[in-house]
Amino acid sequence: MDLYEYQARELFAKHGVPVIPGTVVETAQAAREAAEKAEGLCVVKAQVKIGGRGKAGGVKLAKTPEEAEAAAEAILGMDIKGHVVSRVMVVPAADIAAEYYFSILLDRSNRRQLAMCSREGGMEIEQLAKERPEALVKRPLGPEGITQEVAEEILTDAGFSSEEIEALADVLVKLWTVYREEDAQLVEVNPLVMCTDETPTALDGKVTLDDNARFRHPEHAELVDQASEDPLEAKAKERGLNYVHLDGEVGIIGNGAGLVMSTLDVVAYAGEAYGVRPANFLDIGGGASAQVMADGLDIILSDPQVKSVFVNVFGGITACDAVAEGIVKALEILGDKAAKPLVVRLDGNAVEAGRDILSRAAHPLVTMVDTMDGGAAKAAELAAQK
Ligand code: GDP
Ligand code: MN
Repeated sequence: MDLYEYQARELFAKHGVPVIPGTVVETAQAAREAAEKAEGLCVVKAQVKIGGRGKAGGVKLAKTPEEAEAAAEAILGMDIKGHVVSRVMVVPAADIAAEYYFSILLDRSNRRQLAMCSREGGMEIEQLAKERPEALVKRPLGPEGITQEVAEEILTDAGFSSEEIEALADVLVKLWTVYREEDAQLVEVNPLVMCTDETPTALDGKVTLDDNARFRHPEHAELVDQASEDPLEAKAKERGLNYVHLDGEVGIIGNGAGLVMSTLDVVAYAGEAYGVRPANFLDIGGGASAQVMADGLDIILSDPQVKSVFVNVFGGITACDAVAEGIVKALEILGDKAAKPLVVRLDGNAVEAGRDILSRAAHPLVTMVDTMDGGAAKAAELAAQK
C-alpha cells in the first residue's frame, strides 16, 4: 500500500524524523483558514500518490492566506498523471538551504534492503541515476539496518561535510526505524532538506507499506484510502478472497492460483473470436464451501461488466460433489442476483457425484461442460450474446 505524503509525514513524526506539521484540507476556503493559522509563507501541496507534483504545478508557495486559497483553487481537481487531486496539504514553508535525497527500499534482486543517498535532491531519482550515477550512493544494508555508524558511512560516501553528517545521521537512523517498525518496502525522502537555520527536515515523503505484514499493524487499517480502492476488491478482501478486478466480460472462478491463471489464458484465447476478455481473477482456494462459492459468485455477479461466468474447478482436497453443492446453494442464496449464465467445468476428485448434483438441480442458468477449453469457449460465446 502506497501512502499519501501527509500520511508518510505522520509516520515520520511518530518515529522522531523532523517534519513540519501541515493541515490537510479539501476546499480552497479551508486552505485559506489553514494558512491564516499557520501565519507567514506556506506551501500548498497536492495530495496524490504520484511523484512529480512540483513539476506538474501541484506544489505552490503562498505568501498570504489569499494566495493559499487561490493556490488550492488551482490545485484541487487538477489531474496529475491520471490522479485527480481531492485534497491539499497546507504547510508552513521551509527556508531551504539545500535539498538532498535519501531512500531505503527492498532490493529484491539482491535480497537486501538498499539505502540510497545523494547531495543532489529535489529532482527525480531515475533522472539523477541516469545522468549522474556517481552522485548517487547505493549502500546494501545488513540485518542491523542503519545504525549511527552506517549512517555516517553513507553520508561520508555521499560527500557530506562533518557538520552536515552530524545533523543528518540521526535522521537516517530514524528513517530506518520507520522502515523497520512499520514494515515498509520503501521510504523515500526527496527532498530531505537542510534549512537555513541548519536544521534538517523531511520535506516530502513516499512510503510503501508491505501488505503482507498488515496483520502486525492493525493501526495501518486507517491508512487505507477507501475511496481509491476498487469497491469489489475491497469487498473480496473483507471476505478473505483472492480477487483481482480486470476489465473484460467473462467472470472467472477457480480453485488454486495456477488453475485460475491458466483459465484466464484460455478465456482470453477463446474470447478473441467473440471480442470478449476475462473480467477478473478469483481463486476460491482449497476449501470451496457453499458460502465461499456464494461470496465469490456474489462479487463477480456484482460487476456490471460481467456477462457470463466460468467456474473451473479441479477437485483435489475439496471434492467435486462439495463444490457442486456449493454452487447449488450459492445460486439459492443469491436468488435473483444470479441472473447471468454460468458455465461449470468440474474435474478430478468425485467428479461423477459432482456432475450428478448439478444435473439434478438442473438450474436454467447453469451449463455443464467437460473440458476447460470447451468451458472457456462456451463462456465467451454466452458473454458475447448478452
Ligand atoms: P514532488 O514534486 O511531488 O516530489 O513534491 P515535493 O514535495 O518534493 O516538492 C517539490 C519541490 O517544491 C521541492 O523540491 C522544493 O523545491 C519545493 N518545495 C516544497 N516544499 C517547499 C517549502 O516548504 N519551501 C520551499 N522553499 N520550497 C518547497
Ligand atoms: Mn519530492
